[in-house]
Amino acid sequence: MRSREELVEHLKRVGIRDEKVLRAFLRVPREEFVPEHLKKYAYADDALPIGFGQTISQPYTIACMLEMLRLEEGLKVLEVGTGSGYTAALTYEITRSPVYTVERLPELAERARKTLQRLGYTEIHVFIGDGSVGLPEHAPYDRIIFHAALPSVPPPVVEQLTEGGILVAPIGSLHYQDLVAYKKRGGAVVEVERREGFVFVPVVGEYGFRHY
Ligand code: SAH
Repeated sequence: MRSREELVEHLKRVGIRDEKVLRAFLRVPREEFVPEHLKKYAYADDALPIGFGQTISQPYTIACMLEMLRLEEGLKVLEVGTGSGYTAALTYEITRSPVYTVERLPELAERARKTLQRLGYTEIHVFIGDGSVGLPEHAPYDRIIFHAALPSVPPPVVEQLTEGGILVAPIGSLHYQDLVAYKKRGGAVVEVERREGFVFVPVVGEYGFRHY
């Protein structure tokens, strides 16, 4: 695939239905978020290396997550695992509201900040730190999304989710996870949707895979 339009046609063919998500993929230039020498692959439906052992996620995977998150205009979102900043940009294109995103690796956070600034995404706020504990200073959030694998949902993150809010995360072992969507009801989260069979890099942190 060589263009955003072709990528979106592909995403429709492989089952992505949410029009808001598809429209966001048409708006965000993925080539701006990948290293120079990989720009020619920017619209392939593949994860690509972005340095420091990390990747920009596969478009299909991101589309699944954003669909499961049931995003709407006006919602306040926390993202853990900024990576390149691409998913934060897609999120903002749907919510048009401040997006808070946390990245553990300062070099990646700094690069994502610069890319997002260059593209005019002034309402996406990049923080450096361990997002496995959430980001209490700007809580609560209507939606929380994890882009790296977790063994289970971290309790502090549940606290930072609004009642009725949705959290999506890859849950499982180091080498295999399901994408799970949870809804907060009566102060606790309950599973509402599950899509099986994904592989993410691990969350490294207090509630992640500590010994990775
Ligand atoms: N969605 C991103 C890709 C994210 S890859 C994109 O589209 O580019 C997952 C990211 O999670 C990596 O950059 C990794 O450094 C980060 N990460 C891992 N553990 C973390 C933690 N505890 N807090 C914040 N970020 C973390």
